[in-house]
Amino acid sequence: MQEALIDRFGRIVRPPDKRRLPEWVLVHGVIGAQTKTAASNASTDGLLAEYGSWEAVASAPVDQIEARLQRQSFPRVAAQRLVDCLQSIIAERGAVDLRHLAEYGTADAMAWLERLPGVARKNSAGVMNASTLDRKAMVIDGHHRRIMQRMGLVSPKADTARTYDALMPVLPIEWSAADMDEHHLLLKKLGQTHCRPLAPQCEGCPVRRDCAMAQA
Ligand code: SF4
Repeated sequence: MQEALIDRFGRIVRPPDKRRLPEWVLVHGVIGAQTKTAASNASTDGLLAEYGSWEAVASAPVDQIEARLQRQSFPRVAAQRLVDCLQSIIAERGAVDLRHLAEYGTADAMAWLERLPGVARKNSAGVMNASTLDRKAMVIDGHHRRIMQRMGLVSPKADTARTYDALMPVLPIEWSAADMDEHHLLLKKLGQTHCRPLAPQCEGCPVRRDCAMAQA
């Protein structure tokens, strides 16, 4: 499947280091619901550039943060979740500092993150995998989950956490964190092109041969 996806879409290179700090990835995920990656990148960079620190963002009025998040699909919800999440980290850690996660096992670190307001499995896996923590954790968004359901790799009603639990044990053991990141991004491309939510374009889909829905 991975070879077929790379053949079709090419290799995907990770973003520059400045967008790989765990705190940056966390903020990007908390504000990013149903928003294009480029818009969330710009919003996250913009907040840090304007306020200078995540602690300053945490102490800003929610209305002010909302006004800075107009690129996001749900600016008010994103602003409230972000302030709540950052304040929660500060209450526990004294600062918006996730360095302690490097000392935790991946499952424990994800559990710690999932206790924060606005953080669920997709975001906790993103912080572990896409950041400099470089852990083996598969990020699963709506595209990824839908494709796995249609291909018959998880049950049709599997949510993100169940999809994660089903896929993690069957991923190639030799895959690095970067391979997992690339796999997720390739599936996202597949979901944006062929395996769209309403009308899948199975004709010409690169993974059609292995897909339960296409075979049916
Ligand atoms: S063959 Fe069709 S249903 Fe299966 S992954 Fe491709 S587009 Fe989706």
